[in-house]
Amino acid sequence: MASSVATWLALRGTADRLTGEDLSVGTPDQDHPTNEDLSVGTPDQDHPTDEDLSVGTPDRAERPRRSQLREHLEWDQDLLIALRPCSVLSSGTRTDEKASKRLSMHRWSKLFIPTLREAPADAEVASHRLLIRAGYIRQLGAGIYNYLFLGQRSLNKIIAVVRGEMDKIGQEFYLPGILPKEPWLESGRWTGMGENMFRLKDRKGADLCLGMTHEEIMTVIARNELRSYKQLPQIWYQIQTKFRDEPRPKSGLLRVRQFTMKDSYSFDIDAAGLDKSFDLHDQVYRAIFTRCGLKFVAVEADSGAMGGSQSQEFMVYTEAGEDLIASCPVCGYAANLEKATSLLSPSEEMVATGDGKPEFVHTPGCAAIADVAAFFKISPASDIKCVAYMVLKRGTGGKPDTWHGVATFLRGDHQVNETKLLGAVGGADLRTMQTEELAQYFNGPAGYLGPVGLKPAAQPLGEGLTVVVDKALEGRKNLVCGANKLDYHLCNVTPGRDFGWTLAADIRSVNEGEGCPKDHCGGKLVVGKAVEVGHIFKLGYKYSESMGARVLDPNGKEVTPIMGSYGIGIERILTAAIEQSNDANGFWLPASIAPFAVVVTITNASDAALKQTGETLAAELDAAGLDVLLDDRDERAGVKFKDADLIGIPYRINVGKKAASGQVELVTRAKAGSEDVALPDVVAEVKRRIEEERLLESSS
Ligand SMILES: [Zn+2]
Repeated sequence: MASSVATWLALRGTADRLTGEDLSVGTPDQDHPTNEDLSVGTPDQDHPTDEDLSVGTPDRAERPRRSQLREHLEWDQDLLIALRPCSVLSSGTRTDEKASKRLSMHRWSKLFIPTLREAPADAEVASHRLLIRAGYIRQLGAGIYNYLFLGQRSLNKIIAVVRGEMDKIGQEFYLPGILPKEPWLESGRWTGMGENMFRLKDRKGADLCLGMTHEEIMTVIARNELRSYKQLPQIWYQIQTKFRDEPRPKSGLLRVRQFTMKDSYSFDIDAAGLDKSFDLHDQVYRAIFTRCGLKFVAVEADSGAMGGSQSQEFMVYTEAGEDLIASCPVCGYAANLEKATSLLSPSEEMVATGDGKPEFVHTPGCAAIADVAAFFKISPASDIKCVAYMVLKRGTGGKPDTWHGVATFLRGDHQVNETKLLGAVGGADLRTMQTEELAQYFNGPAGYLGPVGLKPAAQPLGEGLTVVVDKALEGRKNLVCGANKLDYHLCNVTPGRDFGWTLAADIRSVNEGEGCPKDHCGGKLVVGKAVEVGHIFKLGYKYSESMGARVLDPNGKEVTPIMGSYGIGIERILTAAIEQSNDANGFWLPASIAPFAVVVTITNASDAALKQTGETLAAELDAAGLDVLLDDRDERAGVKFKDADLIGIPYRINVGKKAASGQVELVTRAKAGSEDVALPDVVAEVKRRIEEERLLESSS
């Protein structure tokens, strides 16, 4: 039942409101709540009809509204305290016995859990396949999903974790999802957001948009309300639906057009204050992802484009991710591949042949690095690879954009990181060189391009060919490279002596297993795809300045507050958790965010004794504060086991034949292993394992 409360909380925006007037339906002076209490109608619609309020079937709408409300609200109120995040598990007993008694057990036979044996053909990533197969979600349109019972229940638990941690540092708001144009015009993002922003017009022709982020709106509040340094710092957050017109929605809930975000915004008097707000978010985000069971890394990110000064992403390694990151398991160093560096082990240099000067060698058919290495019996690290690009330089002062030839040279076993390359030469875009351009710049065929004899441009993207040499080639000697002549290579090539360059820079992507760049760490880097679950960012003055937010400092002088913005993708947490813990049969979530912590499976529901044992056990688990699902369906045991393995519940208790001798089978989904436990001990045992899971999380 926790999810119903949490849904309600999420809908209302804040738990605090539950204690306010909204709950006073049953008090004597308000026996007949008017329609305004529900504020569905518009001001000029004084008496909305029942249709305006009805969400159920027609016959439900005709039932007396008051009793319906009372039933709903009393129930929520009773559970509110007991269901606060952590309070149940940590204390071990419910704070309200009455509430506990009133709980009806979740019986699978009564629930809507539409599991599927097959996933849709277009579902490529594991989380997409499994969310659909487990009956968590159903697609409605491109990048638009219905969240069904299990999905919403899990998301509500994630929201409860996020809210519980965020309340330690911030205050929860709830801003509109539909937004007027004006604040966006002020910040310059009405045009800046381009086609990613959903836009619409109201009946009077005014422009509106669907919110994808709320920097502007929070700044409007700050500008209107904050007057003095004494009111700072402020951290305001919300958990809310966001919209983004993704050009290519895909991967289930990973790339969607409607999603849920926790976004927060900090306002500080100075940069030192912002540092503190940023650090607070860093700590709270680590706690959130830890409690959600994610194996995450905090990655220093590129902050250039948004004009901020510091930016950090929280990433979870998964093949479904679209970002590549490198991290060190020893010291915790982590960076996007666009920023990552590494220590290379010293290369074994070849012995020079002949007089030691570059020498032509006939290498028929050896265009690929592997062929060259095999021909010379050398490591690819001793072969110089050439990758040739055309790079776009933006025209300044009214001059047109221009394309320039750029030749990059690096070790045969290294790859060019194009973001690093663009940064090094100051280019705006790039593409690989075409055949006629190769002929123009190199006078040699692809596969046999080399640096010797080229005339490097004096400046990057200046006249002629810009030659960029990767740092890892500096100091090397007696290398092999293409001779700019079909079927020929040069050996005995030493950078600096035999060829020059426009620029030496770090333009390579780091590889798995290379050394950690931190001093004396000695760790080996891990490289992998990852998905972003959170991002914290020092915005600086961009919005407060452009939108005119000002406060008085201690000297009575007007100053601009400095801002930060911080986001967490709620669905991203669920998808990342599934991506990191799944197999062919389904997935398993940590108890903290699973729709249920434990499922009790009655292997044969037509056996009255088994059924009774299962019912009693489920009731005991429930009374012990565990979120329990009772599989009382009249199905074969095999079908029930398969379903249970699929839907993400971390623990299963099989009540089968052995129950007669006082034994049940406890299955830990993560380990796919089971063991017999004495019936009287099993509740404590499940609790112990969930506690252990939590302890492991908090120590990792
Ligand atoms: Zn390290």
